[in-house]
This record gives sequence, C-alpha cells and structure tokens, in this order.
Amino acid sequence: MTTPVLRTLTALRAATRSWHMSGETIGVVPTMGALHDGHLSLVAAAKAACDRVIVTIFVNPKQFNQSSDLDNYPRTEAEDARKLERFAVDALYVPEVDQIYPEGFATNVSVGGMTDVLCGAHRPGHFDGVATVVAKLFTQTAADKAFFGEKDFQQLMVVRRMARDLDIPVDVIGCPTIREEDGLAMSSRNLLLSDRARTKAPRLAMEMEAVVRELGQGAAFQALQSRAIAGLEAAGFTGVDYFELRSCADLRLLERPAEPARLFAAAWLAGVRLIDNIDVPVFSG
Ligand code: AMP
Repeated sequence: MTTPVLRTLTALRAATRSWHMSGETIGVVPTMGALHDGHLSLVAAAKAACDRVIVTIFVNPKQFNQSSDLDNYPRTEAEDARKLERFAVDALYVPEVDQIYPEGFATNVSVGGMTDVLCGAHRPGHFDGVATVVAKLFTQTAADKAFFGEKDFQQLMVVRRMARDLDIPVDVIGCPTIREEDGLAMSSRNLLLSDRARTKAPRLAMEMEAVVRELGQGAAFQALQSRAIAGLEAAGFTGVDYFELRSCADLRLLERPAEPARLFAAAWLAGVRLIDNIDVPVFSG
C-alpha cells in the first residue's frame, strides 16, 4: 500500500480527529528519517499496539548543535516511504519547518537534571530541542502511545519526564536497540561512515560488551573504563565523549552495578559521533 503523506498540521488534525471520533487508538513513531530496521521495529511495535499509526519525519533544526551536522544529515524521504509500505501505516507526517515552528515561535521546553550529563553535557541545548519538538509532535498528533528506541536511552527518559510533567496523555513506550550483525547499533548516522570507518565502528559495542562481562564477574568499573577507552583510541576512534556506568533510575554515576544500571558511550570515528548503551545485569556479589 502506498504510504499516505501528510505535510500540514491541518491535514494531520483532520485525520486524527476522525480516528479518535471512531474510538480508534493512535500510535506515533517520531523519527528524523533515513529509516533503518531500528526505526521499523518501532513501527512494528506501534502497529501491534494501536489501531492507527503515524510515522513522523522531521529533521529538527533545534536539536542540532552544529549547522554542518544539520546540513549533512541524510534525507531519503522517497525511500523511507517505500520502506513503510509493507507496514501499511496510516500516515507519514512530514511537516515543513513552519508547521512545527510557525513565525514568532518563542517557546522552549527544557527538562532539568537528567539533561546535565551524557549527551546533554556534550551537546548544549540538544535535549531542549528534542523536548520541544516531541512536545509539539505529541500535541499535534494527539497520540495515545508513542514509541521510542532505547538506542537513545537518555532521550527516552527525557521524553517520559516531559510528557508526565506537562500532563500530555501519551504512553511513552521504549523498544530495544536493533543492531547490525557485527553488533553496531543501527543509526542513520552510520550512512555517513566511510567503508574503512564502518569496519572499525563495531569496536564500540565490542568494548562495551567486554566491560559488561567483567562487571558481571565483580570487577570495579574504573579500570575497565580506562582499558576500554584505550582500546577505542587504538582502534582509530578519535575521541571518547563519555564511557560511563550509570543508574537506570536517575542516571547517577555508579562504580558497580549494585542496582539496575546501563553502560553509556559516545565516541567519534572519522568525524561521525556514535552513541550506544547497553543493559548491565545487577551484580550483588
Ligand atoms: P532518529 O531518527 O535517529 O531521531 O530516531 C528515531 C527513533 O528511532 C528514536 O526513538 C530512536 O531511539 C529510534 N532508534 C534509532 N536507532 C535505533 C535502533 N538501532 N534500534 C531501535 N530504535 C532506534
């Protein structure tokens, strides 16, 4: 089925109103396009849980720190629409910038605390941009459920907090990270890697898995962290923004996974910033 594309808020509202009037539930999958199997897993989860599914594609200028990153971000709308055909989604919402940020737009949604660390510390303003656009997409789509990837775990936490704090009646659902066969977390930014860099990229997930294994044998984190960072640099990564063990509840730094924890990493490879995070089983030994 050809994917119906909506480009205006007026057209989106007409569709969502009629669905809600018929008592149908609406799921939304917000994306920035360049769809891969990670995005499509969210679409499948939405299809399984909701009567109607809207996928959004909006490359949100407010969440980019560098204009070159915004300019280089892959845009593949026609291909994206084709990839969605087999899911028979009800709408692909692709708004122009003025449908999200009309002339004179002056509101900023900022979630405190949890945005001070990890990507928030390295990308000033990034999560304000995310929280603002997602608040807009939640109210524009009037979705009952929204599907986000654990690939961007901090983003998932920020979006949940924002929806709760603003009383937006949407159920935010986290879905597991989908990986390439070699372990690299799927990401639209992987398209920007040269063939040579692509062969090195799985090292990030490999170092993380090795650390998680040793944490499970009772090792303290600090020494493992230094070794992993050295391993990444030796493999050709040009910088590690962070490689940290943190609590799943509040993103506090941990030295041991004595409570539900995740390992978070962001590292640069050939000018591309890769991020990943993995669950760390609780170790109470
Ligand atoms: P993006 O287009 O990068 O803004 O991502 C849109 C949504 O897809 C976000 O909720 C991401 O967390 C999710 N996502 C991106 N990559 C993956 C992946 N490899 N596995 C699962 N979800 C993902």
